[in-house]
Amino acid sequence: MSPFQLPLDIKSLEIVSQSVDSKGNYTLEVKSTAKGTHCKKCGKWSEKVYGFGDKITVRHLSVFDKAVYLKIRVIRYQCESCDDGPKTSEKYDWMEQKSKTTKGLDEYISRQLINSTITDVSKKERLPYRVVESALHKNAEKAVRWSNYKDLTTLGIDEISLRKGHNEYVVIVSAKDKNGALSVIAVLPNRLKETTKEFLESIPDHLKKTVKSVCTDMYDGFGKSAEEVFGKRVVVIDRFHVSKLYREPLDALRIREMKRLKKELDALEYAKLDGMMWILRRNYECLSACEKEQLSVLYKHSPKLKEAHKHALKLTNIFNTHHNRKKAFTKITRWIAQVQKSTATCFNGFIKTLQKHKSGILNYFKERKNSGFVEGLNNKIKLLKRRCYSIEKVTTLFQRLVLDLKGYKRFA
Ligand SMILES: [Zn+2]
Repeated sequence: MSPFQLPLDIKSLEIVSQSVDSKGNYTLEVKSTAKGTHCKKCGKWSEKVYGFGDKITVRHLSVFDKAVYLKIRVIRYQCESCDDGPKTSEKYDWMEQKSKTTKGLDEYISRQLINSTITDVSKKERLPYRVVESALHKNAEKAVRWSNYKDLTTLGIDEISLRKGHNEYVVIVSAKDKNGALSVIAVLPNRLKETTKEFLESIPDHLKKTVKSVCTDMYDGFGKSAEEVFGKRVVVIDRFHVSKLYREPLDALRIREMKRLKKELDALEYAKLDGMMWILRRNYECLSACEKEQLSVLYKHSPKLKEAHKHALKLTNIFNTHHNRKKAFTKITRWIAQVQKSTATCFNGFIKTLQKHKSGILNYFKERKNSGFVEGLNNKIKLLKRRCYSIEKVTTLFQRLVLDLKGYKRFA
């Protein structure tokens, strides 16, 4: 027997006795303060004790780094209202039925799981793996609970590959409400258009009405399904996806030209072109005097690259300027004409894509919305993937993401 009485943080329980085993673990014999239960058949309150069920042992929060077990004899009550007098076991508010852990411990475990792994928490807390796993399942919802939302405002649809090189994609649908609160609302098992559309359709009507923009890349499965559910004007193609598309041909041209120059120029002159990849990617205004000098050397030796680079800078400039949609339309149309008139051919493929997705790309200029928030989320996902490389189930991924994003707020 310990020299002092451990207090218990569960109001509906009274401690009957307590003991310490040879390993220092505590067992508290407890009884319920409730004096009856609701009949499982008629729902009426009954206080007639019929007998006792099995003694159950439930693990609770540790004390002094030692395990604490609650032991309780389940009281069975008999209904006096029903003719056949059915018996009902008492119910507890501090544990879920048939659980091996208390709700308090489950919450504690869930908090430890934020930004961590089941294996890690199970080792640190000296709890069986399945106990930690089941705490996660009890506390983290498997799908979005719409009742938690007042508005959705901005949605982001993005794909991530779960395993590198396996071409297995899951789709993350996220939301940023009007106060800027970010959340994951779905993890979809594939990037088929029907899958995305089915989910978007499932959003309750009153929330659908609050969606002002859906940010996505140029993949039709996302854009088209968003368009069909919310209408054309809400679909915003992320400018960063656009810029990636015109940077790629520029990069390819740079690699080809640098190869040529390496052969043609003497080593000293070629050395002046060091670090050209970054120089070409940055805004001209952001370059140092030295880098500007380097760029002019490149321009001198490669008129082709000079022309392509100038086109790319011009387009970036259009995206950086706060044009309205109409003005942006004029600017981009003019840009396309200029490129087509010039000798540059590396943007031909890009221009086709640009024309195909013009509406979504131009919608960016309405509110300059981008899925930067999705990118931030992607970092969380990447970390989660690295930590829990075996997560393959989309429901588990959803649970873990929600826990990582909202856990501290929920279990603080
Ligand atoms: Zn009854």
